[in-house]
Amino acid sequence: MLYYSTNRKAPAAGLREAVTRGLAPDNGLYMPERIPALPDHFYATLRGKSLQEISFEVAFQFFGDDIPAADLKRIVEESLNFPIPLVPVKDNLFSLELFHGPTLAFKDVGARFMARLLGYFIHGENRQINVLVATSGDTGSAVANGFYKVPGIHVFILYPSGLVTPTQEKQFTTLGENITAIEVEGKFDDCQRLVKEMFLDEEVNRQMVLTSANSINLARLLPQSFYYFYGYAQTKKGKEVVCSVPSGNFGNLCAGLIAKRMGLPIIKFLAATNVNDVVPEFLNTGVYRPRESVPTLSNAMDVGNPSNFARIYDLYHQSVEAMRKDMVGYRYTDDQTRQIICDVYNQTGYLLDPHGAIGYKALEEYLAHHADCQGFFIETAHPAKFTEIMSSIIHQPIEIPPSLKKLLEGEKRTVKIKNNRDELKQFLLSHS
Ligand SMILES: *Cc1c(COP(=O)(O)O)cnc(C)c1O
Repeated sequence: MLYYSTNRKAPAAGLREAVTRGLAPDNGLYMPERIPALPDHFYATLRGKSLQEISFEVAFQFFGDDIPAADLKRIVEESLNFPIPLVPVKDNLFSLELFHGPTLAFKDVGARFMARLLGYFIHGENRQINVLVATSGDTGSAVANGFYKVPGIHVFILYPSGLVTPTQEKQFTTLGENITAIEVEGKFDDCQRLVKEMFLDEEVNRQMVLTSANSINLARLLPQSFYYFYGYAQTKKGKEVVCSVPSGNFGNLCAGLIAKRMGLPIIKFLAATNVNDVVPEFLNTGVYRPRESVPTLSNAMDVGNPSNFARIYDLYHQSVEAMRKDMVGYRYTDDQTRQIICDVYNQTGYLLDPHGAIGYKALEEYLAHHADCQGFFIETAHPAKFTEIMSSIIHQPIEIPPSLKKLLEGEKRTVKIKNNRDELKQFLLSHS
């Protein structure tokens, strides 16, 4: 399989190149040249299959030419080694819980898969690959845990000292082994700038192999299509299925649309956002107006210029009419988000996190006008990741799952540096 750049000014790349590069040389995003359709018998037997079986069959369509089946099977099984249950919340409305992975958020799927794919490509080489990533909180934990103990790979995570929550910090500073957390005396923007400077530094690039693990990487995008098939497989026979996706950079939704293009019969996708509603607005008006993001309760979705929009637009051949056939936009304020969490908790006992709440509400509204449908929303994170916000909304303490508790008990180990490129550079060069 070859991968083209959405800007179409760079040559198509093979899987290995697309994954190690991340972004195409013309700054476009890589997309598969062809979206393979799955055969009828796959769909006929979908409802009885396990997450790992389904994921392998979908993965094989994309990666089967590039990776031997046995290796691909191992990569899939190691990446998706936690349950993704479809939980009923009320009649015809289900939650696809993607928060049972090590960092309690759906980003675990993509990060774990990418780490293992990269590990496979460098296997047998005696050079170390260095993943350099800046985080404002959540990406760091998914990447650190995804790459933890993967042979041949070392991860350096830069984060702004004192500006991430204690829970977030524990998730990437207590692991040790091949994960180094670098605490920068500065802001997130400084961390991001330092990372960019290292990617552009000739001496650093001569002495070490550097790569990025940000969410535009194809190896994080494509595995996210697997769980849409598995979510569908757990619905009841009979009613048509719709799916609601709380979105920020729109990687998750893009993966769902790819699954649909492969033949998955989800009839509608709901693009649900907080007030950072560039995409719902585009679906309504046909005008794309990227802008500065506004901080909200669902902060992982505070994106004013969603990077995966280019992929979705390309998938629909730049036609807003075509997009409207498959997608409807919804947007909710923080006040509405609080109200949704409260109402659903009081009415059903189900505790939504601030991101999932937005997906839930869009689905509830859609189903109210489409009695012939059932649907699921993607619950992207465990509410315990947002203890302070959650307890202020439901006025009760939040139960912390054992896996998170264990992380919180670990000892923080970091390297402190000033907001200074030479200090970072010396540190990296002495550790490569
Ligand atoms: C990253 C994230 C999102 C947004 O996903 P996109 O793929 O960027 O649209 C939603 N919820 C949570 C909890 C996240 O961490």
